Amino acid sequence: MAALYTLVNVAKFFQRGPTTVRALDRVDLEIEAGEFVALEGPSGSGKTTLLQLLGALDRPSGGDIWFEGRDLIDLPDRELAELRLRSFGFVFQQFNLIPTLTAVENVEVKLVPAGGSRERALRLLDEVGLAARADHLPAHLSGGEQQRVAIARALSVEPRVVLADEPTGNLDSATGGEIIDLLWNLAADHGSTVVVATHDAELAARAPRRIAVRDGRLAAQPQPAAL
Ligand code: ADP
Ligand code: MG
Repeated sequence: MAALYTLVNVAKFFQRGPTTVRALDRVDLEIEAGEFVALEGPSGSGKTTLLQLLGALDRPSGGDIWFEGRDLIDLPDRELAELRLRSFGFVFQQFNLIPTLTAVENVEVKLVPAGGSRERALRLLDEVGLAARADHLPAHLSGGEQQRVAIARALSVEPRVVLADEPTGNLDSATGGEIIDLLWNLAADHGSTVVVATHDAELAARAPRRIAVRDGRLAAQPQPAAL
């Protein structure tokens, strides 16, 4: 069986005035279905750029990104949009909830193209422990609660992959740990693969697979010895 993702010699360059920023360079990577992977590295190392390529939010400057047997390079924008909608769930540092919608409406909105369902949105909020907060606006929720809503939203379409960019960056470390554990448990329940980017080495260490990102290059971390 082929891996879920196979990246071959992937590069992403940005032009900034006269200089070329090599945000990613010569990246080879395989991710199997069901993995929980942490991309760990300091600010500016290329984590967000890599997540954006994995989530079809951007196209590489070179190389191939095979996802479920299709090279994303070859897909027209319309098909990339379809993938973003149905195959990928995104979780961001800033939560990105719609401030004028309640918790349950924020989840429901993602379900609209698939024929949204209030019942389903409520079930997801229940899974993240927020059933009692369903009718609250984001401003009336804590940071950790807002991120739980964002996770419910990401999982609502049963995505193949959840891509989380610094999901704990705005949370205290105890709440951040809870969010990582929640992602872990729910992704397993829903059969989703997870790729989470973090500059926090301690959080990254919770993931069974940890990949160091440094200056746009990848280096696998030594895996902890089996217990
Ligand atoms: P990280 O998420 O690890 O902090 P990024 O992927 O955001 O790193 O950035 C990697 C490098 O690419 C940085 O040097 C950053 O400044 C540069 N970069 C990212 N996006 C752009 C862009 N749209 N235009 C120019 N440079 C960019
Ligand atoms: Mg980033």
